[in-house]
Amino acid sequence: MSYVQQNQTSQGGSETFNPKPYPMTITLSLPCTHSFFVSPSTNRFRFRTQASVLSPNPLPVQNPSLSKTRVIVIGAGLAGLAAAIRLNSENIPFLLVEASDAVGGRVRTDVVDGFLLDRGFQIFITAYPEAQKLLDYQALDLQKFYSGARIFYNGEFHTVADPLRHFWDSLLSLTNPIGSIFDKLLIGSTRIQVLSKSDEEILGAEEVPTINLLKRIGFSDSIIDRFFRPFFGGIFFDTELETTSRLFDFIFKCLALGNNTLPLKGIQAIPEQLAAKLPSDSILLNSKVVSIDFSDSETPIVRLQSGEVLRSELGVILAVEEPEAVKLLARRSRRVQKKPVRSTVCVYFSTERDQIPVRDPVLFLNGSGKGIVNNMFFATNVAPSYGPPDEALVSVSLIGLFDDVSDEELVAKVVEELSGWFGNSIVSSWKHLRTYRVGFAQPNQCPPTDLVKDPRIEPGLFVCGDYLTSATFDGALVSGRRAVEALLRDRSFSRV
Ligand SMILES: Cc1cc2nc3c(=O)[nH]c(=O)nc-3n(C[C@H](O)[C@H](O)[C@H](O)COP(=O)(O)OP(=O)(O)OC[C@H]3O[C@@H](n4cnc5c(N)ncnc54)[C@H](O)[C@@H]3O)c2cc1C
Repeated sequence: MSYVQQNQTSQGGSETFNPKPYPMTITLSLPCTHSFFVSPSTNRFRFRTQASVLSPNPLPVQNPSLSKTRVIVIGAGLAGLAAAIRLNSENIPFLLVEASDAVGGRVRTDVVDGFLLDRGFQIFITAYPEAQKLLDYQALDLQKFYSGARIFYNGEFHTVADPLRHFWDSLLSLTNPIGSIFDKLLIGSTRIQVLSKSDEEILGAEEVPTINLLKRIGFSDSIIDRFFRPFFGGIFFDTELETTSRLFDFIFKCLALGNNTLPLKGIQAIPEQLAAKLPSDSILLNSKVVSIDFSDSETPIVRLQSGEVLRSELGVILAVEEPEAVKLLARRSRRVQKKPVRSTVCVYFSTERDQIPVRDPVLFLNGSGKGIVNNMFFATNVAPSYGPPDEALVSVSLIGLFDDVSDEELVAKVVEELSGWFGNSIVSSWKHLRTYRVGFAQPNQCPPTDLVKDPRIEPGLFVCGDYLTSATFDGALVSGRRAVEALLRDRSFSRV
């Protein structure tokens, strides 16, 4: 039985899904200004000055052990990658420094016995506006989920379907016990309402906890408890639905406009595609930043765990997850995380493909109000590439960390609970593959929130990450771009 925490490198019996690995020996020849060399033995840079086209007076290298570039981006999650892409589009040399062994941050996939295991259940919504600008969807070969869900309630499964995509299913589901007919009509009017607003309006609108919004709209307790709680609770990792109504409206709008999908090669294909747009020698993996100091210089000095010291001419963009940012910024941080972060556990099983109870690419939700499973699906029904040809991948998600329960107990509880859903004869044959406990899945986004936070900490130091915008793939991407735009404004680059 395995136990993998977020950002941990892959463990025995598995490889990290990394179709285009970055070489351990990196020669950085950055566009326009400087070249770096990382020696294979020490991971050390050598700095070589060339004519600078962007700054007439590049800062002198005060210490020969310091390596310098125009911008240092710390953290190669979606936010850091988006920042790097924006810098690259301005021909500004940068160095993207990442603590772990691959890009992606929270968006990683492991290959285990031929199965693609995303590090926690994640869905890519095609309508994410910033993602549409940055990603090539065709190359990702996105595999669609059914637009709706199947809900376990009162010992049976009931379908909730999007009437615009599965008209007959939605008609048949009108009288099921997952809410009243009025509730189902309200879903339609809520959809029209969110579609009439721009994203900026939504993210800056007056806010209340999602649960208050749903009650204010007039949804009944039955649809809230049986559908909204497991569905949006699964997206926010918050079954109390205390998360801001701004995030609810944003996600609801994206769901109305787009499809829920998985990339054919696993969720990590998303950051891999972004990284492939960057000069491969601009990314430095396995390099943890331990401090960011100002000393007497205009821009911060970045110190790596290896002892290496890096300097930038224009500034540093800190693109790490919120708890790490708080640590690195120490007293500089205006943003202290006080609310509990959101956690999840994802348990994977394998079974024979011809032994699974359904063929649909549908998400199952626990609408019973009992047990520990929040949602589950047969991943190979959505993307057959998630498993070897004859085998099926089962993905089960729980909300919270369950850190007082051992892995063995957790798996036993999940098997027992799902036996009540699909029958013991089916579930008892499932083989446990791996358990992912993700302590920090998302920042807490309960009101009051500010989803358009200023990325500027002080001159030369900027932050990005999902905690500054909406805690989504899209929010992380937007925040990366915004951090660069703030830096360029500060440094008076005219194109911004
Ligand atoms: C299980 C799970 C499911 C999710 N599901 C969805 C979903 O379905 N849809 C959706 O839109 N969003 C989802 N999210 C949220 C989404 O993944 C995040 O909002 C987004 O990936 C955050 O990106 P980021 O770049 O801000 O942060 P991160 O991805 O956390 O990136 C931070 C990077 O900084 C690096 N780093 C940290 N410290 C240092 C250091 N000291 N030195 C150098 N590097 C450092 C980290 O290794 C990491 O690579 C999910 C998240 C999780 C965990």
